[in-house]
Amino acid sequence: GPRPEAEAADSGVQVVVRIRPPCSVEGEEAPDTCLCKTSANSVAIQGQGFTFDAIADAASTQEEFFTPVGPPLVENCLAGLNSSIFTYGQTGSGKTYTMWGPLSATSGDSMACERGLAPLVFEHLFSRIKQEQQKHKDKELIYSCTCAFLDIYNEQITDLLDPMQKNLQIREDVKTACVYVESLTKESVFAMKDVAQLLVKGLANRRTESTSANADSSRSHCVFTCVIKSESKNLEDGSNSIRMSRMNLVDLAGSERQKLTHAAGDRLKEAGNINRSLSALGNLINILAEISQSGKQRQHVPYRNSKLKFLLQESLGGNAMLAMICTVSPSESCKSETLSTLRFAQRAK
Ligand code: ADP
Ligand code: MG
Repeated sequence: GPRPEAEAADSGVQVVVRIRPPCSVEGEEAPDTCLCKTSANSVAIQGQGFTFDAIADAASTQEEFFTPVGPPLVENCLAGLNSSIFTYGQTGSGKTYTMWGPLSATSGDSMACERGLAPLVFEHLFSRIKQEQQKHKDKELIYSCTCAFLDIYNEQITDLLDPMQKNLQIREDVKTACVYVESLTKESVFAMKDVAQLLVKGLANRRTESTSANADSSRSHCVFTCVIKSESKNLEDGSNSIRMSRMNLVDLAGSERQKLTHAAGDRLKEAGNINRSLSALGNLINILAEISQSGKQRQHVPYRNSKLKFLLQESLGGNAMLAMICTVSPSESCKSETLSTLRFAQRAK
């Protein structure tokens, strides 16, 4: 039987594993699976158990998946805390499906039930903003939400809302110590339909851009960011306060180890960059989990060795909320990648 499950120590990082439905192979009766959900928050593979915050199996719908992950993220942002969600996993395991959902579901109503986390999160955000505004009679609440969408391929940043802008540079504001991407397009959004438009545009650009670069989206990291600012004016005494938070939705490059053996030239460089940035991210998540467990002050975190990490540094330290969604395929042929994804996920706990 399965060995005793590893204890999931509590950390500031929420880790959820999502198992995608098995691919049905013609002529086969039962799908071949190497992975099974053993409880609400554990899975077993090769007799080894792993425990996380939650496991979503193949039967979980987009809406069911959203429920434990999305609303806490939105509440954090409304409270002024930075929050990020990452999808991590092997190519084909469901990262993009989980984060954005099919494009047709985002743009139209016909497949609305297949909408991914991003559209559901923003729908929830706008409805919560409305609630907050109506709740307080003694103050006026003004919200502004500004979004940007970018892609990091081979350590180069492309603006997905204006793909002519390639190789953008990350700068650090000396006064505020804030990190920003120079000349990146920023769009204000007021309702779900504005966000849907940006998602559709950006994801379509991601696809065509990556083809022309002779790569596919599985080899780039894709980051949607929304800065949420709220200004609260007290109608009685005229005082006001401002809150600001940043939400990052990050669809990572495929986690399969990029093979260096048969690669040459650009492919070799690209493979090295992906391996480095994912392991940098893994180390970062480890450090953050340790810090929040021990309640220690923020220690020196080496951010500079990857653009992805450098870009997200402000959003990941301090009281930030971080959710890692690790997607896995249940099929026998993916066993070793699935095992390595689960091990990565375990490190974040
Ligand atoms: P990745 O981004 O990790 O490479 P995708 O999200 O593109 O993987 O998923 C690969 C394929 O599997 C897509 O056709 C996608 O629609 C499908 N898929 C992935 N996860 C699910 C799921 N939970 N339910 C239904 N279909 C899924
Ligand atoms: Mg993908």
